[in-house]
Amino acid sequence: MQKQRIVLLGPPASGKGTQADLIASAYGIPHVSTGALLRSESSRRTDIGLEADSWISKGLLVPDELVIRIVTTWIEKNGSTFLFDGFPRSVSQAEYLDDFLDSLKAPLDLIIVLELADKEIPRRINDRLSCLQCGATCSGKLDAQVEGAPCPRCRKPLVRRNDDTDEAIERRLEIYRELTMPVVDYYNRTSSELVRRIDAEVGSQSVFTSISKLIS
Ligand code: ADP
Repeated sequence: MQKQRIVLLGPPASGKGTQADLIASAYGIPHVSTGALLRSESSRRTDIGLEADSWISKGLLVPDELVIRIVTTWIEKNGSTFLFDGFPRSVSQAEYLDDFLDSLKAPLDLIIVLELADKEIPRRINDRLSCLQCGATCSGKLDAQVEGAPCPRCRKPLVRRNDDTDEAIERRLEIYRELTMPVVDYYNRTSSELVRRIDAEVGSQSVFTSISKLIS
């Protein structure tokens, strides 16, 4: 049976957003990026967005309480078919998600871990342009895009994210190692039968081919 509740884990720039978009259009599973939801709140200058931005711009995690509020609201509004990209990012978020999905009798059915060598990460991030409106990302080199060019999906200008700076990247990597790698250990302990590791260093189409075999 096709998987319906998927978590996509991996370090910054491992291609989570790209893969989530490919999966969403091939299988109709909604792509939920907590980073994109938070950036959209921030560009609309909502209370949540303004609070979140002070953490995001420093490369720090937004407090669990805020992220959990956003995720719970999303599920209540849209139902329990989803592909989470960037959530859960800490063991306490993972525990919350398990409890919440248990209460809905709709447990996770696949956990994908994208693996990428550390040295590759800053190179990819420095080449990345993002849309703050719809969450699309582009590679400057591969997609021949420049800052300010229209987003290929929604036509808003592409920008360099305010946390795609050398200093914030270092911090995001440290946080990934300290707080998010333990999420992989948590799932290996509690639901090892759902965890699949994928090499994310190859091209995005090859990564997608491997992922497709896991979903259908
Ligand atoms: P990347 O995977 O490239 O780091 P994201 O768009 O997933 O980018 O996240 C950007 C930022 O948004 C994170 O550095 C963090 O500040 C915030 N964020 C996103 N998801 C979460 C989460 N689940 N918990 C806490 N903060 C989050």
